[in-house]
Amino acid sequence: MNIHEYQARQLLAQYGVAMPAGDVCDTPEQARQLANQLLAGGENLLAVKSQIQAGGRGKGTFKSGFQGGVKVCRTADEVFVNAKAMLGNVLVTKQTGPEGRQVNRVLVVGAPSIQKEFYAAVLLDRSTSRPVLMASAAGGVDIEEVAARTPERIIKESIDPALGLMPYQARKVASRLELRGDLIGQAAKLLQGLYRTWWECDASLVEINPLCLILTREHKLALLAVDAKVSLDDNALYRHPAIQGMRDLAEEAALEIEASKYSLNYIKLDGNIACLVNGAGLAMATMDIIQHFGGRPANFLDVGGGATKEQVAAAFRIILQDPNVKAILVNIFGGIMDCDVIATGIVAAVKETGLKLPLVVRLEGNNVESGNLTLAQSGLTIVRGDSMADAALKVVGSIGSP
Ligand code: ADP
Ligand code: MG
Repeated sequence: MNIHEYQARQLLAQYGVAMPAGDVCDTPEQARQLANQLLAGGENLLAVKSQIQAGGRGKGTFKSGFQGGVKVCRTADEVFVNAKAMLGNVLVTKQTGPEGRQVNRVLVVGAPSIQKEFYAAVLLDRSTSRPVLMASAAGGVDIEEVAARTPERIIKESIDPALGLMPYQARKVASRLELRGDLIGQAAKLLQGLYRTWWECDASLVEINPLCLILTREHKLALLAVDAKVSLDDNALYRHPAIQGMRDLAEEAALEIEASKYSLNYIKLDGNIACLVNGAGLAMATMDIIQHFGGRPANFLDVGGGATKEQVAAAFRIILQDPNVKAILVNIFGGIMDCDVIATGIVAAVKETGLKLPLVVRLEGNNVESGNLTLAQSGLTIVRGDSMADAALKVVGSIGSP
C-alpha cells in the first residue's frame, strides 16, 4: 500500500526525522490560513505541494495547463492562488501515465533555503535478504537514472536486522556524502529515524528525495527531509490499524479495489486476453504462455488457493468490466480446491454475466472428471483446454490476430 507525502511525514515524525513545518489542507482558504500561521511562526518562504501518490510532481503539468505540482510562494495570497489552481485538478507527471491523478489535498510547508539535495532510502535488498540503506549525493533528480548511468554515486550500507542501523554505519554513510562537523551527527539521527520508520511500520520502502542541506535563519547548515515516500508491506498491515486508515481509495484503480473486496489479486494490464487462475505462480506462468503463443494478457488474476463459487463469479464480473478483453482463459489446478466447484462457479458466472466472448477452460487435478463433465453438460460454448499449451493456443487462436 502506498500513502501520501503528508501521511509519510506523520510516520517519519514519530521517529524524530527532521522536516520542514507544515500541514495538509483540502481547501484554498485553509491553505491561506495555514500559510499565515507558518509565516507568523518565522518561515520566509512556503511550498504548496500537490498530494498524489506519484513522483515527478515538481516537473508535472496540470490538465488545466497550470505548470508544476510543487510551487514555492512568498505570501499567503500566493499560497491561496496556487492551492486553488491545484485542488480538484488533474496532475500529469511521468509516473502517473497520461490520465494523471486528481489532486484532492495540498501540503503547505516551509520552503527552506536549499544548498544541496541528497537521496536517502531504506528498502529490502533481495540479494542479501537484508535491509539496505541507500544514499547518494546526486539527489533531487531521477535516482533510477543515477543508478543506471553512474552506479558508483550510490552508497549502499547493508543492515543486520537483528542489530538495526548502527550509529557507526549511519555516520559512515554521512561522511561518504561528504558531510562534515555536526552535520554528521544530524545525518546519523535522521538516517536512523528512516530505518526505524521502515522497521517499525513494516514498510517496504522509505525514500527521501530530496534530503536537503539547508541554511537556517541563524545561517547554520542543517539537514531536512523535504520529500517523503513510504510504501507499506500489505502482508503486515493487519499489525498497523492506524496505517490501514491511511489508505486512499481514490488513488487505486477501481477494479483493483473491487477485487480486493473478494480477496482476489487482480492487476489490470493492457492486453486483451483475460486470465483467471488459482495461485500466483500459475497466474504468472499463464501470462507467460499466452505471450509465448503471441497473445497479450489483459490482467493478472489470482483467485487464491481455495477459491469459492462467489469468488469465481466476482472474478468474471471484474474481468468483464475491462473493455479491452476479447477472450478469457481459465486455468485452474485443483490442489486444495475441487475442480467441480470451480466448474459450477464458471457455469453460474457465464450465465449470470451473459458472456459472449470466447472462453477456454483448462482444469487439472482434484475431481477434474466431474469438473469437465459439468462444463460439457452446461450447454454453454466453453472450449476445453487439455493442457496449458493447448488452452493458451486455443485462446490466442479465438481472437484471430492478437
Ligand atoms: P516530486 O519528487 O514529486 O517531484 P518533491 O517533493 O521532491 O516532489 O519536490 C520537487 C522539488 O521541489 C524538490 O526536489 C525541491 O527542489 C522542491 N521542493 C519540494 N518541497 C520543497 C520545500 N518544502 N521547500 C523548497 N523546495 C521544495
Ligand atoms: Mg521527490
